[in-house]
Amino acid sequence: MTISPNCMDETDPNALTVDQALRRILERCEPVAGSESVGLNDALDRILATAVTARLDVPPARNSAMDGYALSGNEGQAGTRLRIAGVSAAGHPWEGTLKAGECVRILTGAVVPETADTVVMQERVTVRDGIITLEADCAPGSNVRHPGEDTRAGTEILSRGRRVTPADIGLLASQGIGEVRVVRRPRVVFFTTGDELAPLGQTLKHGQIHDSNRYTLRALLSRYPVEFVDFGVVADTEQAVREALFRASETADLILTTGGVSVGDADFVTRLLQQEGEVGFWKVAMKPGRPLAFGRFGQALFLGLPGNPVSVMATFSLFARPALLRLCGTEPEAPWTLRARLLEDLRKSPGRTDFQRGILEHASGEWTVRSTGGQGSHQLRSMSLANAYIVLPSESPGAVAGDEVDVIPFQSIF
Ligand code: AMP
Ligand code: MG
Repeated sequence: MTISPNCMDETDPNALTVDQALRRILERCEPVAGSESVGLNDALDRILATAVTARLDVPPARNSAMDGYALSGNEGQAGTRLRIAGVSAAGHPWEGTLKAGECVRILTGAVVPETADTVVMQERVTVRDGIITLEADCAPGSNVRHPGEDTRAGTEILSRGRRVTPADIGLLASQGIGEVRVVRRPRVVFFTTGDELAPLGQTLKHGQIHDSNRYTLRALLSRYPVEFVDFGVVADTEQAVREALFRASETADLILTTGGVSVGDADFVTRLLQQEGEVGFWKVAMKPGRPLAFGRFGQALFLGLPGNPVSVMATFSLFARPALLRLCGTEPEAPWTLRARLLEDLRKSPGRTDFQRGILEHASGEWTVRSTGGQGSHQLRSMSLANAYIVLPSESPGAVAGDEVDVIPFQSIF
């Protein structure tokens, strides 16, 4: 890791591209060590530390996919009359033996009697005096679910590193598996910096603003299987930043901060990390977003996001998100990209990738996108109104109404 500060100016040709910065970050991130067992009700979104193998055939027995009548497939011709010999309901199998000329009333999910192999839907028969008459031919084998048709005992059903989904929880439960081994939650210590930041509930004095980043960060972090600790607002003094960084590094796997990573007089984070950490200061050729600091402080990884609220969210989604997922033990996927028709002209300067805030809609059979308006990196409302980034590539001078543009829906990254 280069320790040299390289906070370059806006047009610096040596600025890192988004992909380069991400690659450098991911090179340094490894899944945290340690795992724990959790019950299924606590397993959602956790990362599996070991693969899971099916214990059971599911379904365990042949059962009916329909409400109807179980019969032998060679008695399934239209016009056939069969006597109802009993009832097989879910949880109450019929234990008798089916003879020629007989059928069994059967309900969805109920065990198909051994001597039957076909279920005719109740809508395809007429019933009178305990006798059914088939209205149409019923193909042998119809409407029967077979053992192991969903899952076979012995097959790997969930891989190591998988982030557990609601469907996975159901799948595990269907196997009678009530606990899974998951990766320990990485510990993320976060704080914001800035003497201008006032707590909520306090009337703003001249020159003050409320600390929004810390709330945004907490909200963002709560979507990940991490343990997070809020160190509050840290003042713009060397002493305060030093104390916070050292204290954070005692327990954190990752320290996440906002602000103070420029080269202004009050940017103590930059100065301290240069002295005490192993941290690079990068300008990333993107808007919004620069600058960014990344490296180590003591035992902890350190990621210093910019101070502007929109830049915080942009850099979080592009850099902190994949880093967190890697630390959590799962491989980050690239954000999902859609193509959408742009509804208005957008301007930008070439030489950096723009992530403009847009409103993505599906209208008249196609995806369209328009800007949220003001795109300043202090205009958090542009984020709140938006549901997607409009991605304008580095070399592009902008785009005009009617162009197809790349769009990243927020659902895939926030
Ligand atoms: P900095 O990177 O510390 O120079 O901050 C850049 C801009 O972001 C300044 O306008 C700050 O006032 C603003 N800012 C920094 N931290 C926060 C925060 N926690 N909440 C809202 N705005 C902030
Ligand atoms: Mg500041």
